[in-house]
Amino acid sequence: MLKELWEQAIERLNQTMPSSGQMWLKNAHFSSEDDNSITLSFSSPFYLDSFKKKCLDQAHNVLSDFAETNIKINLIIDKEIKEEEEVKENKIAKISEKKKAVNETLNSEYTFDNFIVGENNLFACNVAKVISNNPGTSFNPCLIYGGVGLGKTHLIQAIGNYIYDHNPKMKVIYVTAETFTNELIQAISNKTANAKFKTKYRTADVLLIDDIHFIADKISTQEEIFHTFNELTDRNKQIVFTCDRPLTELTGINERLITRFRKGANVDLQPPQYETRMAIALKKCKDLNFKLSPDVLEYICLNIKTNVRDLEGALTTLYSFSELVGREITKEIAMEHIRNFIPTQMIKNTEVTIDQIISQTASYFNVSTFDIRGKSRNKNVSLARHISMYLSSTMTNLSLTEIGKYFDSKDHTTVSYAINKIKSIEESDESIKRATETIKNNLKKQ
Ligand code: ADP
Ligand code: MG
Repeated sequence: MLKELWEQAIERLNQTMPSSGQMWLKNAHFSSEDDNSITLSFSSPFYLDSFKKKCLDQAHNVLSDFAETNIKINLIIDKEIKEEEEVKENKIAKISEKKKAVNETLNSEYTFDNFIVGENNLFACNVAKVISNNPGTSFNPCLIYGGVGLGKTHLIQAIGNYIYDHNPKMKVIYVTAETFTNELIQAISNKTANAKFKTKYRTADVLLIDDIHFIADKISTQEEIFHTFNELTDRNKQIVFTCDRPLTELTGINERLITRFRKGANVDLQPPQYETRMAIALKKCKDLNFKLSPDVLEYICLNIKTNVRDLEGALTTLYSFSELVGREITKEIAMEHIRNFIPTQMIKNTEVTIDQIISQTASYFNVSTFDIRGKSRNKNVSLARHISMYLSSTMTNLSLTEIGKYFDSKDHTTVSYAINKIKSIEESDESIKRATETIKNNLKKQ
């Protein structure tokens, strides 16, 4: 009888208490009852004390209300109780311990199982699965390219995890191009270290290199990758790499290396459509055990279109907020908190300077800021210049004349021409669209 009342009391407490209190409620296990008291048991003194501090008074009041008389609550420790989370955490700890011991380059959280597939990434994901099932036989080498936050790292790591799980004897190495470069720099002056470095990568069965665009203009790194590449492909070892743009737009990389890259499969990741964004958001909420109403979810998924990282960032922000203040997220709260993830509002709210725009555009096109501001008629430089002008007009409050002053002898008609030109081709020209999106994302990261 009191047990039923206690269950109702829990329901009520879950509705009225902040989540910081609810956390402790679920560690209280009903143990026994007599006429005017109940006994709750806990797996450890820690849970018991926390319950006592955060929940006991309210629990006592609510239960007594329901029973219409004063009901005492006794608290005891019962070592037999195993909290679900403890069991789960132990399991996870054991799994990751095992993985860490064998392959510390992989993050076991990036798997195919938790990679949501939509039209935007279906082809890339299928190619990745074929590679994982038969490394070194087809799609070798493979380039996965796409903008920031679209799942390149997730997918390349999923390949590594899958192969590692199914063929633990294979030597799978994941490395970012940046780490590869740093290791090379450290090894270069020392003979033994150098030999060790070379052997490490040249004996891999599966080599996964993330963010290959990083090696632009780094001649020694390119040289080393070229030789590693030849050795591995000669022996039918699998190579997969990722890049933030297609090979045709990659500058500052030696032609013979590009030729090697081109030999295999090139697959792209596009921004997810609404349905895929919704599926990803639902999954993320489930993982966090975060309840959001359907209209708030819809609001988020309709507005955050850029990439998955932003979508996850927005959900984590809202989750932290709701945990902190113990309030349900309404659409108004969501609007207030995720502004930074929504491009148009982001533009108005952050102070991006024209210098930053020019510098990011220069680095994207691998030209100098001096050239962008100057008069060079080189095709690449002109395009970079036009894109900087276009982005300056959409991302800052400067007038066309003011923008013109940042470029050598550019009056407002030239600026206006450049803006219209980019505006008119942005929608239809994939490479322009990708360039503007990547530059905007990089500015945002700044
Ligand atoms: P990139 O390397 O392209 O910048 P990441 O692979 O780091 O992007 O992805 C950013 C975040 O979004 C990661 O947390 C990743 O797990 C998640 N993510 C990306 N694509 C998906 C997807 N299709 N399904 C589930 N999560 C995804
Ligand atoms: Mg990445």
